[in-house]
Amino acid sequence: MNSHITSLKINLESVDFNLNYFKAKLQKSTKLLVVVKAFGYGSDAIIIAKHLQNKVDYFAVAYTQEGVALRTAGIKTPILVLHPQVENLELLVTHQLEPNLYSHRILDAFIALAKSKNLIDYPIHLKFNTGLNRLGFLSSELPKITSKLKSNTSVIVNSIFSHLAASEDKNESDYSLQQIDAFKKIATDFENHFGFRPTLHMCNTSGILNYPQAHFDMVRLGIGLYGFANEKEKTDALKNVISLHSCISQIHAINIGDSVGYNRGCIANKQMKIATIPIGHADGISRSLGNGNGFVHINNQKTFIVGNVCMDMIMVDVTDIKCNEGDEVIIFDNQETVERLAKNSDTISYELLTAISQRIKRNVTS
Ligand SMILES: *Cc1c(COP(=O)(O)O)cnc(C)c1O
Repeated sequence: MNSHITSLKINLESVDFNLNYFKAKLQKSTKLLVVVKAFGYGSDAIIIAKHLQNKVDYFAVAYTQEGVALRTAGIKTPILVLHPQVENLELLVTHQLEPNLYSHRILDAFIALAKSKNLIDYPIHLKFNTGLNRLGFLSSELPKITSKLKSNTSVIVNSIFSHLAASEDKNESDYSLQQIDAFKKIATDFENHFGFRPTLHMCNTSGILNYPQAHFDMVRLGIGLYGFANEKEKTDALKNVISLHSCISQIHAINIGDSVGYNRGCIANKQMKIATIPIGHADGISRSLGNGNGFVHINNQKTFIVGNVCMDMIMVDVTDIKCNEGDEVIIFDNQETVERLAKNSDTISYELLTAISQRIKRNVTS
């Protein structure tokens, strides 16, 4: 049956498969946090979180409002907010979200808020910078952190964590191992200062696969859940979760010398049949995929984008494809195509997936 609107399909059986694939890489006692930031890597954070809420220990989002959306949808699982921002801390507490506190500015703001609200043992997480140089305290700041938190009863440090800069890159393994050692030292110092050991975590998807010695007490699974592992052989072991489908709105027969699309991006050098598809750069199809760089599949045949990508539409060459208006168009339904489209638009799977616009309807399939 043809679907007459562009839609993104989420395969929850593939989600389960990928989850179990990564669980099998962990020790039994290692906890699993699933990252659902950026609308679940462009899928649907609420659909993913509802499906996984009883199968994982934690969710993480980037920003506070993303966590609020999950709470509003009824998700009760602990949610770590990786980049909560001072302005949103009150909202964060209202929705029982757990902040990553990564600098003295935000730590002080949170302590002040916790005191003013008479909070007791509110769970917080401290991030340490071991070399990514993005967010996080330096190890040398531990004594100052201790002085602020040790006798503080309004908050409790649930976890300390760090993030690898190049976990997918074997050529940078020395750097990753250095980061792992630095984090181990921070964990030991923390325990010496505070007298207890919080949950420790460091690994993202590629960290889970490449640095089993750094799983610590919990891992943070992101892109892997959605079927990608930054390396072909590893991605091949996973199942595809996200597929993007559309349909043919109209077919034009054009003659030699006729042009297609804005700025006459394509000028026909033969008689052609051109199909218009209702998905454009506002939907996440980068303009760099225009003029033969991007492609779709129609009736099991591959064909390329002609001319420029418009805001709401693309045109593709169907001269040699038997097809009709209303026929299904597959933008991608496997990881290899996503990787290829990402490569052809000079980006990575993460960006291609998260760019898929919210105006495209999400559906669950199996
Ligand atoms: C996004 C993110 C992750 C997940 O990374 P993947 O490579 O998608 O697995 C883990 N930790 C932090 C801090 C992140 O920002």
